[in-house]
Amino acid sequence: MKLITIIFCGIFSFSLNAQTNVKQVPQKENIKPRLVVGIVVDQMRYDYLAKYYNKFSQNGFKKLLTQGFNCKNTNYNYAPTYTGPGHASIYTGSTPSFHGIIGNNWFARDSGKVIYVTDDPTVQTVGSESAKAGKMSPHNMLASTIGDELRLYSNMKSKVISVSLKDRAAILPGGHLSNGSYWFDSGSGNFITSSYYTNKLPQWVTDFNAQHLSDKYLSQPWNTLFPIEQYTESAEDDNPYEGLYQGESKPVFPHNLPAMFSKTDYEVLLSTPFGNTIIKDIALAAFKGENLGKSDYTDFLAISFSSTDYIGHKMGPQSIEVEDTYLRLDRDLAEIITYLEKNYGKDNFLLFLTADHAVAYVPEELMDLKMNAGYFSYKIFSDSLNGYLSKMYNDSNLVSCIINDQIYLNRSLIKQKDINLKSLQDDIVSFALTFKGVANAYTSYELNGESLNNRSAELMQHGFYIKRSGDIALLLEPQWLDDYSHTGTSHGTTYSYDTHVPLLWYGWDIKPGYTSEPVDITDIAPTIASFLNIMSPNTSIGKPILSITK
Ligand SMILES: [Zn+2]
Repeated sequence: MKLITIIFCGIFSFSLNAQTNVKQVPQKENIKPRLVVGIVVDQMRYDYLAKYYNKFSQNGFKKLLTQGFNCKNTNYNYAPTYTGPGHASIYTGSTPSFHGIIGNNWFARDSGKVIYVTDDPTVQTVGSESAKAGKMSPHNMLASTIGDELRLYSNMKSKVISVSLKDRAAILPGGHLSNGSYWFDSGSGNFITSSYYTNKLPQWVTDFNAQHLSDKYLSQPWNTLFPIEQYTESAEDDNPYEGLYQGESKPVFPHNLPAMFSKTDYEVLLSTPFGNTIIKDIALAAFKGENLGKSDYTDFLAISFSSTDYIGHKMGPQSIEVEDTYLRLDRDLAEIITYLEKNYGKDNFLLFLTADHAVAYVPEELMDLKMNAGYFSYKIFSDSLNGYLSKMYNDSNLVSCIINDQIYLNRSLIKQKDINLKSLQDDIVSFALTFKGVANAYTSYELNGESLNNRSAELMQHGFYIKRSGDIALLLEPQWLDDYSHTGTSHGTTYSYDTHVPLLWYGWDIKPGYTSEPVDITDIAPTIASFLNIMSPNTSIGKPILSITK
């Protein structure tokens, strides 16, 4: 009891110092939060905060909204708005044009192959039998993260840890100097890492895996948290715009999870709200296991919740499944916030919550509502383009790859045939503009050149890295998606449904409030740097959010 009292007093005087110093004189360099907690919710649209507000609990999203600070108009300032670039941009405070993470996958001109963002053939899996799942590292990310800066500043005394279901959503936030980044291996149901970080899982991760929580969460059907008739914010459960879970004939509750997994295949966990719950569990284990926030140096935990993305892709933003996932995430979030308050005190940790991109409505639904929306067939486009080029240039092999709405040309063939690259690009732009669903198209010369004078083009320039991006980038019309599936939805564009995300701050020196001023996603890292009195990441282009940093 005595010990508890002493710890509490210590925290109290610490926070009192922080308050007085902040208000009256410039912040002292030695007063910092003990812990920064970054939370990224994969595919979270800004409007979900309001849409589900009445069903949120007191200590989750509602607490962040009423007792924290809401940057209501936070947008991505580049495209493509995908998961890899999103996480890299949040933590580097910069855009793909600097950090080089231009997609989840891209075409590598040197190897002539499509590569995955965090693939690294030089490292090994640590923590499971899977050879592939752990051959990962942040080596393709060219910039430092806020965590890297914290590590360098503190002479490696600050700790940075990151956890997520997705490898890329753990690895990129962890940066190059992470003390440990852990992600989910769906073959074993365990959390793993790579030899980039360590050759052996720490004991706390081994102990965590030994609980077999994946089995526990998949042992029961997924039913709604509240009686289903109360989900009036969403469309009816059985509708034609939702995808099906394995073995199901209708997209309706309850989803029979026990029938969908085996001891060698836990992949379905990703597409349930319990994928988020297990991330909450490992985050809580990380606080304890790594003793975060208990030294004289500020520590950093980056948590990414990815099930929201898997379920969102499959079901779309109008589904009860997505709503139920957010209501359950809200309860998981409440558990994390309550833990932090209890163990560190509200004034001793800085928490932010945002998303790596948002998402479009299901195009098929908007088409039925007679709005502009549609499906763009890259198969048809690619075949016609090759036909057109063989007529014009007498060669049908000038295109190497089409990925991320970008066309990569066969540069060596073009050189060999002495074709003018710029004219070829211009021809392809003119050809692309004859297609229904294409809003515009830009050449690499334009995207790497002077600032283009419209928002979409400007965002595409920020997403363009000359050494990795394509020769021509297409911009589809709003609500037009790759013709992959007519149920569910996706993201990746410059449009507000993909760029407008939540940004909430809570804890350390954060006064309750909100701003409607525009904030860029690249402002998050410099804002944290400002609170910590450290340097912004090395390619950061953002600025501290003045409404909260003063
Ligand atoms: Zn994502």
